[in-house]
Amino acid sequence: MSEKLEKKRILLVEDSRLTAAMVADFLVKNGFEVEVVPTGEEVVQRIEEGIIPDLILMDIELAGEMDGIEAADIISKQQDVPIVFLTANTSKEIIEKIRRVKAYGFVLKDTDRIALLSTIDMAMRLHEASVYATMFERLFETSVNELYIFNPESFRFVVVNRAATSNLGYSYRELEAMTIFDINPQLDTETLREIIKGLMHGKQERVVLNTVHRRKDGSLYYVEAYLQLFEYRRSKYCMMFAVDVTERKKVEDELDESRKQYVELAQEAPIGILKCDVEGNIVYINKKALEILGSPGVEETSSINFLTFPLLVEAGLSQKLKECMENNLSQTVEKSYTSKSGKSIWLRTHIKPLLNKDGMVKGAQIIMDDITEKKEMERQLYEMSITDPLTNAYNFRYFTKKLEEEILRAQRYGESFTLIMFDIDRFKSFNDSFGHQVGDLILKATVDMVKGRIRRTDTLARWGGEEFIILLPNTKLEDAVKLAEELRQKLMQLKVGNDDSLTASFGVVEYQEGDTADSIVKRADAMMYRAKNDGRNCVRY
Ligand code: GH3
Ligand code: MG
Ligand code: MG
Repeated sequence: MSEKLEKKRILLVEDSRLTAAMVADFLVKNGFEVEVVPTGEEVVQRIEEGIIPDLILMDIELAGEMDGIEAADIISKQQDVPIVFLTANTSKEIIEKIRRVKAYGFVLKDTDRIALLSTIDMAMRLHEASVYATMFERLFETSVNELYIFNPESFRFVVVNRAATSNLGYSYRELEAMTIFDINPQLDTETLREIIKGLMHGKQERVVLNTVHRRKDGSLYYVEAYLQLFEYRRSKYCMMFAVDVTERKKVEDELDESRKQYVELAQEAPIGILKCDVEGNIVYINKKALEILGSPGVEETSSINFLTFPLLVEAGLSQKLKECMENNLSQTVEKSYTSKSGKSIWLRTHIKPLLNKDGMVKGAQIIMDDITEKKEMERQLYEMSITDPLTNAYNFRYFTKKLEEEILRAQRYGESFTLIMFDIDRFKSFNDSFGHQVGDLILKATVDMVKGRIRRTDTLARWGGEEFIILLPNTKLEDAVKLAEELRQKLMQLKVGNDDSLTASFGVVEYQEGDTADSIVKRADAMMYRAKNDGRNCVRY
């Protein structure tokens, strides 16, 4: 709509210069912008060119071929512009003619000026109102949502729009003979009266109703309906605006379904899933998590607080959770703790803070995986990688690593260590007389015996076939020699066959400054060979 402050433009069609000048002068004084054209042809041309005034004040008898009525007829078929006639007489003939064209009234030329102004004003208002009315009618009609106006007493439809007729499958005519109950199987008079009671008493402005509509073919669809009341000519009408929410409902149902599936999935997942609030109170926990935390003691899941739960405090997880929530960071930690039954349990825990809309930490999501078995397998694999499969003594590779570490320690802290190397005497003949399997058993028994005697901090390794080496940290040569002697005697007690006692030759050496792994082993080897050369079954150092 044009702005209030803008002047309204009037096109005055008048062939008499004097009348035109007087009328124009008066209108300009009253705040209008006025243009004058003398003929019907000219005004038609202007309109065709798209120069549209807010109102045309049209003289009937004009100078050209075309009179005012003809010009008005042509114009009104092209443009919606209000036309008011100016006429010198009100003969029956003229009045008839005026009636036939779409006009907004007429004024006598010699009438008083106030009547002219009020006719112009009224014509403009009328026109504006009709513009609005057309606009609203179009809005109503072309709305993609269904619009119904019904009588709130009889519940009969008064007007419905195209969206309503096309979705329901009824014609306008059919619907006009129906009530709202014919399209809504969920409502009856009593229910609807109750629903719109608030509207009727002016206590409520709008009611929202989630309901269903039934089409002519019997099919149903979900609607969200907004009911409002308005008054027209002292009568009340109810306006219903209905949105077909079938698709939305379908999507919502599908979402609900998938949500349900996720919840079930989470419940049955083979990993523990938990959520806690910022105080550590559990807000969600699945079966596996309960199992991990020891469900028998935790009947009431709401009683678990992540920050104070003993097992979690013990495993350091409570502290981790606090850290993660305070600093808004995610972390994965592997921790072990002792379960109630005394079993050592390894947990891999992933903690991820949960944020609210403002980006503040509101809690955390905790995923727990019981990795005890995996850890055990890793341990076994590691054990296998460092031990000799036949005897379970450490292997050459592991021993070398240990020895190098020990040399470093000796260099750094000035500590000393010793090595005992021994080789079973004439082992070949045991194999030859009793078989390879018995030979194997002897090797195992030897290792078991030695392991049973040395300290936990000592390292026994199988150096080669029937040759072994022992690393003795923090041990002086004389003590190592004593031990070697003891082992030599104990070995003899492991009898094989009738009288054949098991013997071995021992070489003992102590770390000396500047030794490398190679050099110290070489010396041990040399000592052991000296024992062999000295007749076997003896210790040399
Ligand atoms: P010496 O007193 O000089 O050490 O004599 P020996 O027979 O013990 O020495 P030699 O090096 O000649 O023979 C070692 C034997 O140990 C040969 C080999 O078959 C045997 N042997 C090595 N590894 C194994 C094993 O894993 N199992 C068995 N049963 N025998 C083995
Ligand atoms: Mg040997
Ligand atoms: Mg040998």
